[in-house]
Amino acid sequence: TSYQASNQRYDTMTYNRSGKSGVLLPAISLGLWHNFGFVDNIQNGRDIIRCAFDLGITHLDLANNYGPPYGSAEENFGTILKKDFKSYRDELFIATKAGYDMWPGPYGNLGSRKYLISSLDQSLKRMGLDYVDIFYHHRPDPETPLDETMGALADIVRQGKALYVGISNYQPEDTQKAAEILKNLNVPFILHQARYSMFDRWVENGLLTTLEQNGVGCIAFSPLAQGMLTDKYLKGIPEGSRAAKNLTYLDENTVTSNIEKIQHLNAIAQERGQKLSQMAIAWILRQPQVASVLIGASSPNQLKENVKAIDNLNFTEEELELIDKIVI
Ligand code: NDP
Repeated sequence: TSYQASNQRYDTMTYNRSGKSGVLLPAISLGLWHNFGFVDNIQNGRDIIRCAFDLGITHLDLANNYGPPYGSAEENFGTILKKDFKSYRDELFIATKAGYDMWPGPYGNLGSRKYLISSLDQSLKRMGLDYVDIFYHHRPDPETPLDETMGALADIVRQGKALYVGISNYQPEDTQKAAEILKNLNVPFILHQARYSMFDRWVENGLLTTLEQNGVGCIAFSPLAQGMLTDKYLKGIPEGSRAAKNLTYLDENTVTSNIEKIQHLNAIAQERGQKLSQMAIAWILRQPQVASVLIGASSPNQLKENVKAIDNLNFTEEELELIDKIVI
């Protein structure tokens, strides 16, 4: 069936400026790390993306190796774009990345110019796009000179293959260096993508300040700690959940060892009249440096639940202290 986007798609979402750039991002963005590979049901993926756009989620996040197999999330996304979103391309802000393992041999990983430029060319072909809105270096490469990696990002922008650039998983010191190099090259560096949730607070230790000083926004990934910060595991590990699946990065032991904390956090969410997932997202959005919270979803209903987080973004001092006491 053909897709007609909802006329109300911009009525409820809020949009935040990414650092000091011209780019506004939806408070909640959607990532295609899981649920969009050839191993998954593409019709479900298509329903999720349609639902996202109808909710005002204009920003979609991919990477070269999302799947499995590697590349298949981009390929499926390309198919969905072509079928449903041809006339909406300019309403979408699409990201991809390179930096992790992608193809065999010395040129399919890490941070060389050779890898980044050829990987983006492959990504564009898979997605059927002329350019992405933002291209990220996915993780720091301790061996390649930062000047080479950032130079590759600069040339990608000059070639018109990405409008903006970003980095991911960089520590504050390298983030600062990257910002200086990119500034000298006149390249719009607008986003740092970092893991951030009530369970993983590392960005609070310097990164957010570094980003603010450089006018760069933060987009927070795995805000639900891959599903742990929802009510899904309160009564055990459901079949089909990420923790129950093979080939994922969430295992049953991690869930079980955190379950007591999850129960306590769930009680606070209930007091606030929110789902735990909604509280987990709101808790991140309270940071002024965070432009967007990057969630995953295995169904449209999860998305519908999660976007309601923006209905209650306020926390009392007592609530924040209580949360810290539970998680730290
Ligand atoms: P989340 O922490 O948001 O976890 C998403 C998962 O939680 C869903 O797939 C679903 O899992 C479960 N879930 C979501 N909403 C609900 C709900 N309302 N109720 C119950 N369960 C729910 O984020 P991800 O770990 O998926 O990461 C998000 C995105 O961040 C990725 O897609 C990717 O784009 C990016 N990312 C970037 C990285 C980087 O290095 N730059 C690394 C990791 C992610 P289930 O299948 O169990 O239903």
